[in-house]
Amino acid sequence: MYEFIVKMVDGTECRVFYHRYPEWKLTNISRLQKNPCPVCRKDFICKCMDNFTADIGNQIAEGKYLEKAEAN
Ligand SMILES: [Zn+2]
Repeated sequence: MYEFIVKMVDGTECRVFYHRYPEWKLTNISRLQKNPCPVCRKDFICKCMDNFTADIGNQIAEGKYLEKAEAN
């Protein structure tokens, strides 16, 4: 289980969990509760970020998070 912190364009920070084997797979996203959710404005746990799985996956890819993790 790998964990990455991704900052989205609106400043929302999410903790993203990946499984590595047999291949990298995004398993869970949880919003860090520093700021209210940009979607529903709740400041506690919500499921809105699940709708951004593709966006967050792209950010992970562009930021080369997985390559960095593999180097460790
Ligand atoms: Zn929300």
